[in-house]
Amino acid sequence: MDSHCFMVEKPCPVCMKNTRVLKTRSRLMVEKTDEDFCVHYKGFNPYYYKIWVCEHCGYAADEKTFLTKMPERQRKMLWDFLAHKQLEFEFKEERDIPDAIASYQLALSYLDIVESVPSKKASLNLQLGWIYRFMGESEKEAEYLLKAAEFYDESITKERYPIGNLTDSGAMYLVGAIYYRLGDMEKCAQHLSRIIGDQSVRSREPKIYDKARDLWSDVRAQQNEEKKKAGSGK
Ligand SMILES: [Zn+2]
Repeated sequence: MDSHCFMVEKPCPVCMKNTRVLKTRSRLMVEKTDEDFCVHYKGFNPYYYKIWVCEHCGYAADEKTFLTKMPERQRKMLWDFLAHKQLEFEFKEERDIPDAIASYQLALSYLDIVESVPSKKASLNLQLGWIYRFMGESEKEAEYLLKAAEFYDESITKERYPIGNLTDSGAMYLVGAIYYRLGDMEKCAQHLSRIIGDQSVRSREPKIYDKARDLWSDVRAQQNEEKKKAGSGK
């Protein structure tokens, strides 16, 4: 097992059996953080281990969802689905990239079955996009980033914030940052301007306000650069 991980046993919220899962130690060295909050760590990638998979029934979810008591109706929907499959998942002490991708895809498929809230789908799509970013697979990265942006947009209109640490302004910034990464400066600017144009965000959430303003000036610089190029090309 990687020295950054340790094993614990937790009851699966669907089949109720105890399953082995891996947690990562919190003391990790941060190398850099991208605009969309993707953190690059030194020597180890905790995102490979974010999704817990039950080794008995194959249910998969992020730690928080896994540990939260599930409404009986949802549990039954998942159990009806999983009981027929008789899936058994090999518990692995170390995950490689394909294991990580498979775990996110499983977790996303269960969110669809229980018709989960868009914020959860958004966050897993975003993280799966990051996994492809670490691999340098930009086409796949863009596919999942776009889904994340669309689910966050839907979530902002439908759900009550804050969700975890994320406020609605934080989510708005994040969607802007995702479009920035996707190279869609128009959509990026649309989202950022809603933060910059709101003085109450400036006083309530100065950190988000500053991040939005910094990214905004990058967007403006890029747009000017493009204009210059277009001008000199004539
Ligand atoms: Zn289970």
